[in-house]
Amino acid sequence: MARHTGAVCKLCRREGEKLFLKGDRCYTPKCAMERRPNPPGPVRRFRAKESDYGNQLREKQKARRTYGIFEKQFRIYFKKAQRMKGVTGTNLLVMLESRLDNVVYRLGFADSRAQARQLVRHGHFQVNGRKTNIPSFLVKPDDEIAVRDRSRGNSFFKERAQSLSDAKVPAWLSLDSNNLAGKVLLLPGREDIDLALNEQLIVEYYSR
Ligand code: SF4
Repeated sequence: MARHTGAVCKLCRREGEKLFLKGDRCYTPKCAMERRPNPPGPVRRFRAKESDYGNQLREKQKARRTYGIFEKQFRIYFKKAQRMKGVTGTNLLVMLESRLDNVVYRLGFADSRAQARQLVRHGHFQVNGRKTNIPSFLVKPDDEIAVRDRSRGNSFFKERAQSLSDAKVPAWLSLDSNNLAGKVLLLPGREDIDLALNEQLIVEYYSR
């Protein structure tokens, strides 16, 4: 699966805010946004005011980069969200939150979505008892996500198990830290998604 291979901190600097793409490092003074919050590239003395199009583009890029999705797939999600009942922007965010890699991250099994994607790709997780190594797999209510038996002995998951008991998970998920498992109680609502995104701007971007 395609993934971003460049310097990820540049993505935060480009968007002008922390996207939390690097796990623990994002919460330390080493974070590039703490040290160099200016956009990458030559330093400009004057920044032109962003146009409507510019604002829409930035919001779309922020969402895409937060979830680590390339343009082609993001556009497919948008088209699907448009065909669904309800508010397109909310549908889009709910779909992105329902990706297996995001759920693994939200349950606290990984420090970042990128790490969660790698763990899923390497076959460490099962959904409803079946090995699932597709990060874009969309979970639904009552799905059970668990670390596979053969992966539980890994030093990574042994260490994880110790910190998981303090993990805070969103209200739409439940975590059984002793069994390295979680459950989807229901799909999230917009209020459950703690991202400062203006999804309406994304809808406007694709509706031009
Ligand atoms: Fe973004 Fe994290 Fe890098 Fe900070 S450390 S710039 S939040 S990816």
